[in-house]
Amino acid sequence: MRIGIGYDVHRLAEGRELIMGGVRIPYEKGLLGHSDADVLLHAVMDALLGAAALGDIGKHFPDTDPAYRGISSLKLLEHVGSLLEENCFLVENIDAVIIAQAPKMGPYMELMRENIGRALGIGKMQINVKATTEEGLGFTGSGEGISAQAVCLLTSPVNLYAEDVTEQKQCGDCCGCPIRSREKKDVKKG
Ligand code: MG
Repeated sequence: MRIGIGYDVHRLAEGRELIMGGVRIPYEKGLLGHSDADVLLHAVMDALLGAAALGDIGKHFPDTDPAYRGISSLKLLEHVGSLLEENCFLVENIDAVIIAQAPKMGPYMELMRENIGRALGIGKMQINVKATTEEGLGFTGSGEGISAQAVCLLTSPVNLYAEDVTEQKQCGDCCGCPIRSREKKDVKKG
């Protein structure tokens, strides 16, 4: 099992839409950035890429590339999902926190979880999103910006550390492994 961490910050500005976890949230300001500046998804992507030792979003989606101007971060998350698949990784779970003084994120949490799940092809039970304020302190407290943090665990159906292909085919005991779920059913029956 492999762990990853992600952290991101964007400045709040007038004249921008606030997009969080792929949800458009009505608010007087939005986050400034090259893409849609979805700070939550950026932290989630960095956690996933980190756990897979695949670098970070700056490496995969540079903000100097016009192709990513205004792009939905859900599209970028889908791409990260396919990178994980190509590299034989499965997502065990993701936990994330949005740090914002305002607006209230509660009403949109379920939609965010659904969006993340759909983009990565995983279930809602594998994703948790929380939000907190910083009690008026710092740049999030003053409303200058919003930050987000995420952690994730990845597993793999193959032995990622094997030196040869035969060894690599040995069961990695991951959450998505049909052998493991068969064994679980047998345990229940038995
Ligand atoms: Mg960002």
